[in-house]
Amino acid sequence: MALREVRIQGDPVLEKVCRPVEKLTERLEVLIDDMLETMYDENGVGLAAPQVGVLRRIVVIDVGEGPIVLINPEIVEQDGEQTGSEGCLSLPGKAGIVTRPNHVVVKALDRNMEPVTVEGYELLARALCHEIDHLNGHMYTEYVEGPLQDVDYDEVEEIEDEE
Ligand code: ZN
Repeated sequence: MALREVRIQGDPVLEKVCRPVEKLTERLEVLIDDMLETMYDENGVGLAAPQVGVLRRIVVIDVGEGPIVLINPEIVEQDGEQTGSEGCLSLPGKAGIVTRPNHVVVKALDRNMEPVTVEGYELLARALCHEIDHLNGHMYTEYVEGPLQDVDYDEVEEIEDEE
């Protein structure tokens, strides 16, 4: 496993629509392991393949309940609303207020290419929406209400550790 460089907002790779995965090659398996390692190293709760420069529909998430790997994820149900602070590893040191569904149901393939359904509330729902947006070339900054805030790095790590 190896750490990958996280692309920063402004990099055109973050604005592209990613292609579905049809076959899980050895190369993509290595990518998934690297994405998990990179997410944990950066204290993030999620990471999408385009954030490490790969235009494939793969996301990894861990909201403190263990790693979730989703291939070709699609939101099939959403309801409710939550408004809260959101940040992104592709925009370090910033956060902004975003309203998201409070509950989503996502259909995807797991890392064995088996169909899986993931249901998320609150932080997990937010993370699912945020990461799936990346696969369609969208950043949370498109939906921010009010100005972006500067956040202290140590403070962010503390908050994420508590989650
Ligand atoms: Zn992000």
